[in-house]
Amino acid sequence: MHEEEILVTRPSMPPIEEYIEELRDIWESRWLTNMGAKHRELQQRLEKYLTVQHVDLLTNGHMALELSMQALRLTGEVITTPFTFASTTHAIVRNNLTPVFCDINENDYTIDVDKIENLITERTSAIVPVHVYGNICDVERIQEIADEHNLKVIYDAAHAFGVRYKGKGICSFGDVSCLSFHATKVFNTIEGGAVCFNDRNKDFGLDIYRLKNFGIRNEECVDAVGANAKMNEFCAAMGLCNLRHVDEEIKKRKKIADIYRKAFEGTEGLKLNPIQKDVETNDSYFPVIFNEGRFGASRDAVRAKLAENNIFARRYFYPLTNTFEAFHGKYDPSKTPVALKYSREVLTLPIYAGLPPKEAARIADIVLSCKK
Ligand SMILES: *Cc1c(COP(=O)(O)O)cnc(C)c1O
Repeated sequence: MHEEEILVTRPSMPPIEEYIEELRDIWESRWLTNMGAKHRELQQRLEKYLTVQHVDLLTNGHMALELSMQALRLTGEVITTPFTFASTTHAIVRNNLTPVFCDINENDYTIDVDKIENLITERTSAIVPVHVYGNICDVERIQEIADEHNLKVIYDAAHAFGVRYKGKGICSFGDVSCLSFHATKVFNTIEGGAVCFNDRNKDFGLDIYRLKNFGIRNEECVDAVGANAKMNEFCAAMGLCNLRHVDEEIKKRKKIADIYRKAFEGTEGLKLNPIQKDVETNDSYFPVIFNEGRFGASRDAVRAKLAENNIFARRYFYPLTNTFEAFHGKYDPSKTPVALKYSREVLTLPIYAGLPPKEAARIADIVLSCKK
């Protein structure tokens, strides 16, 4: 029996000396928050790293989503998927918008682009697709649909930090992409988030900057009902440190993913993430879909077996957001059958840069030992 618990992820942290170096500047300047030097530097470095025109930093990914929807002045209905973290749906509802749930596709778990158009009504103002597990949505088809129906596109890119498609940063697609820099994500600023957008959305940039600071335009004019969602200097400093190491971290994740892939290759009843064409993924999660009939053990049985061994895999995403008690049965999950089925069959295995390859191999062995 191994004593050490293995969780689904473990935050990346820089050498502490690196962080202390950054802190010295903060101590000297006494500038702790409100768009200081660290904030500005991280913003610029992220624009380069992500190859996007503009980045604005926020307290977390959720506020990035919520304020983006407010800044784009969305109204009525928003098409999205329930196979996501609570944040995506909550951001829609908290903006007094109506989420209209589209199913996901069976291959990569992102929005099923063939089912979007049927859901568009005259009240639809936007599509909010989610890149999941480092898999990307069909960004080209989504843009075509949006252009044809005059809809905004806001991507929840919380799982897609650093992912590239045809050599371009994935956050350069759509009107806005929202990132999360939460401790558990591929790149973290302890808590944090960002919006990414292009030049053609310049007004959006001014609006988001204002909305994250109470809607204050200048000392005498407050002309929007904003929130407080500014990233502080300590978080930005953590980001500057972590960004120096993120490429290495992603490489190490890839090694873990390769170990799992090799171990599970050809196993009846298991479905792994597809390798998407022209995509450099970030291996942010390692989901496995367990088909109980063919594998001989359910997702929950495998999860329990791992837990017995002090390994805590997670059921991302279970339950679906359209089944949350908070919504009092308002939405019908049987209308998103693929999402519903996968939410009952998916288990995301531990993956992070510091996970020893030996441990990944042991985890794979335990999973396979459940096969009947
Ligand atoms: C983490 C996450 C969020 C929310 O980000 P926070 O920074 O925790 O607010 C939103 N959507 C998805 C898909 C996420 O995984």
